[in-house]
Amino acid sequence: MAEETYEGEFYCVKCKAKREAKGNVVVNAKGTRMAKAKCPVCGTNLNRILGKA
Ligand SMILES: [Zn+2]
Repeated sequence: MAEETYEGEFYCVKCKAKREAKGNVVVNAKGTRMAKAKCPVCGTNLNRILGKA
């Protein structure tokens, strides 16, 4: 199963700003697709909800 990636806008809670980042898409226990990346400025983990799998 190929890893899915997501590239786009994430909201960084530490910078309190939107950041462009690229990360992996994961599916949580509820079947929601989430993109996970790291803020290119401060290194904080970023999560973005993409919707139902
Ligand atoms: Zn940040």
